[in-house]
Amino acid sequence: MRALHSGLALRLIWRERLVSRADLARRTGMSRSSMSAIVEDLLATGLVRETGTGDSSGGRRPILLGFQDDAHAICGVDLGATHVAVALTDLRIGVKAWRSEAHPVRDDPEGALDLMCRLVQEVLTEAGVSAQRLVGIGVAVPSPVSPADPESLSPLLVPRWRGHSPVRRLQAAFGVSAVMDNDANLGALAEQWWGAGQDGRDLAYVKIGTGVGAGLIIQGDIHRGATGVAGEIGHIPVDPAAGPCVCGLRGCLNLTVGSQALVDRVRNLRKTDERSVLPSRGLTVGRIVEGAFEGDALARSVIETAAGHLAIAVAALVNLLNPATIVFGGGLTRAGEMLLRPLRAHLGGRSPSASVTQTALAISSLGVEGIARGAATLVLRAALDDPNVFPSLRGAGTAVPSVTP
Ligand SMILES: [Zn+2]
Repeated sequence: MRALHSGLALRLIWRERLVSRADLARRTGMSRSSMSAIVEDLLATGLVRETGTGDSSGGRRPILLGFQDDAHAICGVDLGATHVAVALTDLRIGVKAWRSEAHPVRDDPEGALDLMCRLVQEVLTEAGVSAQRLVGIGVAVPSPVSPADPESLSPLLVPRWRGHSPVRRLQAAFGVSAVMDNDANLGALAEQWWGAGQDGRDLAYVKIGTGVGAGLIIQGDIHRGATGVAGEIGHIPVDPAAGPCVCGLRGCLNLTVGSQALVDRVRNLRKTDERSVLPSRGLTVGRIVEGAFEGDALARSVIETAAGHLAIAVAALVNLLNPATIVFGGGLTRAGEMLLRPLRAHLGGRSPSASVTQTALAISSLGVEGIARGAATLVLRAALDDPNVFPSLRGAGTAVPSVTP
């Protein structure tokens, strides 16, 4: 019972930032003496400290308690399809050290895992944090993750990863617990905690990168579905002309709005369109967006076409789940209103107008660090739910798996 109340108190102190013992007692329904004993324990862990005094309500000014955001650290890993990024964060998911390198993650799991471990070690070194001070490591992967096999990527969608696990590798290398989830799910979690969907109970995050995926927050929690593939909107067919997909269907959204598809479309159109100033060599989504901002008509029309394809899948999301907010992230979203305006227009014709106008569409403000921060948030959320996960609270030898590298 005391552990339960201790967790409740710790979560309140984290959320409120500054709170007195009397407030804690009142809000948890405990006696002030019991709460004082719990607070003594929490002070001893280093997670909580006394920090100044609050306003008096007649008597002595109360001592305020604050959460020590830097008592421990968390590592968030973003394994994208074509990059590995690692953030070392404090306990409010503020980034203290950051590394990102391009890598063909889908095709080279061993190289990606080696790079991941090197970058984790680099952020630990830069921040002067030992692995023992980590609450844990969260990993975002470009694949659905089945609740029945939470340490593996999908053998269907990323076949080369069969037998390779980021979670097992990290636990072996650093001796701390690691958890992983789909990258779009963790993008959604990041938006719910730190971004455009803050405090939202029903929101969707759509990641447009090498492929397209959606993370869904339903009634406040990540919705993974029975086998972890909820939100795989990249495999909604939107244009039969786009040909066969790895999943067995034709014309999937991934094949029309994914990075390679956008680059290919520009290259094809350039053959007949002399006006464009876009280069045909070294073309990237970032360059297409830049071109659109410079007024390039071809770049703009490709973004508008992408918005039309995206609208088909987004309309399905709106009609099925009626999220309050849909947040878009990934390289193409740097186009901002150039993407959102045609998307809204296409959406208006595809979904009941009332539910569409009530769904806020926003571009993620979290930038390239968003997914890694979401991965770290997964660890933080688990620790706030069960404070025994914090290094300073766990008993000797418990919680940390002893794995021989
Ligand atoms: Zn497909």
